[in-house]
This record gives sequence, C-alpha cells and structure tokens, in this order.
Amino acid sequence: MRLTFWGTRGSIPVPGPDTVRYGGNTSCLEIESREGRRVVVDAGTGIRPLGRKLMAQEPDEINLLITHLHWDHLLGFIFFEPAYRKGWVIKLGGWPLGLSGLRGLFDNHLGDGHFPVGFDDLPAKIMPSRELEAPRSRLGGLTLRACPLNHPQGGVGFRFDEREASLVFLTDNELGGPGPASLDDFVRFCAGARVLIHDGQYLPSEMAGHAGWGHSDWASALDLARLAGVERLILTHHDPSRDDGQVDDLIGQVRRAAPPGLVVEAAAEGMVVEV
Ligand SMILES: [Zn+2]
Ligand SMILES: [Zn+2]
Repeated sequence: MRLTFWGTRGSIPVPGPDTVRYGGNTSCLEIESREGRRVVVDAGTGIRPLGRKLMAQEPDEINLLITHLHWDHLLGFIFFEPAYRKGWVIKLGGWPLGLSGLRGLFDNHLGDGHFPVGFDDLPAKIMPSRELEAPRSRLGGLTLRACPLNHPQGGVGFRFDEREASLVFLTDNELGGPGPASLDDFVRFCAGARVLIHDGQYLPSEMAGHAGWGHSDWASALDLARLAGVERLILTHHDPSRDDGQVDDLIGQVRRAAPPGLVVEAAAEGMVVEV
C-alpha cells in the first residue's frame, strides 16, 4: 500500500514561511491499496488539496475514516471538491458519529450563517458504510482494524494490513493518559507493524503542562514503537506553535534516543511512503 500525508498539523492550520517543510494543514492521510482502493483518514484542512488532485480523474469511490470530531480533523470537508460533484461516492467509517459531524459542518439549525451550502444539497453520495464498520473489516485485500484512543471526547485509531505490509495510524492519543486503552492494548494493536504513525505533539518537558489534553510526547511514542517492534516511526500532529526548525530539533532528539534499526521521521505534507 502507499500512503500520502496531506495534513500533518495538530489543532489548527498554521500556514506561512515557518511551516513550509512539515506543512500547515491539519490531519489528512490517503492510503491506496495495491488493488487501487482508496482510504482517506480524517478530513482536516489537508483534504482540500487531496480533493483538488482527485478532480483530475473520473468520479470514483472514497472510503473516509474519521478519527473523531474535533475541528482539526473535520473542517476541510466543506471545501472537499468530490463532495460537490455528482458521481462521487463517499463511504464513511471510523468514529460512529462521523456522518452527523460532517452534517453539522454544513447545517446548523439556528440559521447563524456559518456556511451557505446545506449538507443535503451536496451532489455526491455520502453515507455510512457497513464495509467499514469497526472493529474489523475488509476492503478487497486490505484489512482494517480499529481501536479506541485516549483523547478527550474519544477517538479511533486504525491498523491496515495488506499481505506482508502493515500500517498503524494513532493520532490524538495520550499514551498513559486518561482513557479506555492501556499501553499493553496499544502494544498489541501495533505489534509487528512495518510503519507506526503516532501523535508526537509534545516534548517530554512539555507534558507536565498538558497532561490530560489527549496528546503524547515523543518519548512515549518511541516506547510504544520499541515495545511493539515496529520498523518505522513517523510522528505527526505537530504542535501549531512549533516551526520547521523546532520539528527538526524534536526529531533529532527522538533519533538519538531510538534503538538501532528503528527509522524515525516527522510526517511532512506531501510525503509519500510505500509500505
Ligand atoms: Zn487533533
Ligand atoms: Zn482531537
């Protein structure tokens, strides 16, 4: 499978000269299976440029998995061009309230003028899909699994397996924080994955001021990668106040602490990974 990062930033978009290398758009990941099935995880502002790319092809089916409903994982959908084109089919999975979350972006029953298009006026067919129902489902040769995350108001993480390739995406997750899942649960979920993409928003020194916020420091993410025996750790959900040079510094600290053989990288907008 092949994955492309379209949005790597946490909390709020931060465009500008300080974030050009790692990106300013919020959470969005595209996965293409060997059979050509497309899975998109999250509809942060990174989904807008993905939608522009998709306009170059004939209408098709998109499987959209929503991790949770916080704005940075949802807001890009109002400018996702396939939603505005007849013939596109957008099947939803992941967070159980994903459909009502997307609807809420368009429709507010108070008439307070947030957005001029109604959800039911969108020409694309947008619907929940039984094919994508948690905790385990199949999309052709791609197996999807889901797990609960430690995050305020909840969240869902995903694992994708296709033949010998395996990829886990856990963002907005506080390892060791309050929530339903223990470190052992995450180690089991990630066991033997080739690639682990994990929330690495904070430095260890920043955790004291952010405990319970639902995000991890890089040291916790590195521990998980080591215990689960993954080959490659990619940190994402970069803090909005961290510029490119500071992300470089953070990754340098992780690399110095990593065991030999574990590849460590920072997710960057436009980065493509063959898994
Ligand atoms: Zn987030
Ligand atoms: Zn969140």
